[in-house]
Amino acid sequence: MSDLSDLYQEVILDHNRRPRNFGVLTPADRQAYGHNPLCGDKLTVYLQMDGEAIRDVHFEGSGCAISKASASLMTEAVKGRSVADAMALFDRFQTLMKTAIEHAVDEDSFGKLAALAGVRQFPMRVKCATLPWHTLKAAIAATSEPVKTE
Ligand code: ZN
Repeated sequence: MSDLSDLYQEVILDHNRRPRNFGVLTPADRQAYGHNPLCGDKLTVYLQMDGEAIRDVHFEGSGCAISKASASLMTEAVKGRSVADAMALFDRFQTLMKTAIEHAVDEDSFGKLAALAGVRQFPMRVKCATLPWHTLKAAIAATSEPVKTE
């Protein structure tokens, strides 16, 4: 294993052990619930909005290490961003997760999210990594329908 993947591994383990922005956000302007039945990941994303910007974002729920670390990294990545920026980042992240593992991740543009690039080796787990983002999108849209990956 290279030093780089050791570092990525460390980021995921750290965010799984000590998830950032974890817990109910009250009062939340918007929220959405997401569920990945293939793995059993469940989470709720809470948002406080400031016009078209995400002032604060929290999540809570239970799931595998990948889903929890991804949710934690997502909250750090989108907090303070405009909705448009957050959704553009989601698009790029989703494209990355669909890209073959042989393609290196652009670390400059993904920051800590690059740590999740290794999940591409395990196609079943990609949904664990993208569930928090789909749930964020649903919360932004303030849909009341639960999000399901299946
Ligand atoms: Zn999972």
